[in-house]
Amino acid sequence: MPRILVTNDDGIYSEGLARLAEAVRPLGEVVIVAPDREQSAASHALTLNRPLRLQEIGPDRWIVDGTPTDCVNLALLHLFRDRRPDLVVSGINFGPNMGDDVTYSGTISAAFEGSLLNVPAIAFSAFVGEHFDFVPCAAFAAELVAEALVLHRDPRIILNVNFPDPPFAGVRVTKLGRREYEVGVIERLDPRGRKYYWIGGEPPVWHRGEGTDIEAVMNGHVSITPLHLDMTHHPSIASLRSIEERLGDAARKA
Ligand code: MN
Repeated sequence: MPRILVTNDDGIYSEGLARLAEAVRPLGEVVIVAPDREQSAASHALTLNRPLRLQEIGPDRWIVDGTPTDCVNLALLHLFRDRRPDLVVSGINFGPNMGDDVTYSGTISAAFEGSLLNVPAIAFSAFVGEHFDFVPCAAFAAELVAEALVLHRDPRIILNVNFPDPPFAGVRVTKLGRREYEVGVIERLDPRGRKYYWIGGEPPVWHRGEGTDIEAVMNGHVSITPLHLDMTHHPSIASLRSIEERLGDAARKA
């Protein structure tokens, strides 16, 4: 019986987490370790400057007063260190995690933490549109998890899944697209007349590049993007090589 760790960044009380856990329960021994409150856009933050509390709130159900990364770290290196889970699943996030947004995503970072600790992982996020419903997302997630338990064996690669508004037109394997926040920061006055700021208040502009996650989701397809943590831009290595020669002396003299 495979052990499946379920986590998220929307917190233990989110419907997406409950639906995902319920959907994968027939596939293995499900254990839930999730943040005690919403941690969206927590990225890959690890809490290092204060103690963390881990609390069992039900059978195979724990909360952590920290980030999604803290949850996966405590689950894999402490709670289940004697028998690591076979798969980490994160989500289902309320809102998409596509294109450039993947670096902010706590949902995806939880999956990457599994990857770093040698456990294959899948992140699930849902576009919240007119017909938004976690139920079909969870039903498809279970199908993919069943397949992943057999085939998704390389922990260096995570799968980033984004659901469109149901019903789904099909599945597309994609690359990351681009998005821009045109009006990035909103400035307002608080009741005492002091300025405050709200980041990302306006909807972003999505670029539907061919073969991208954004195009797939906008066309009604479930998008699956394989991601890895090697952020090296390999084509630049050759073109930057001449710097070794030009600035070598400067480095030695510094
Ligand atoms: Mn979230």
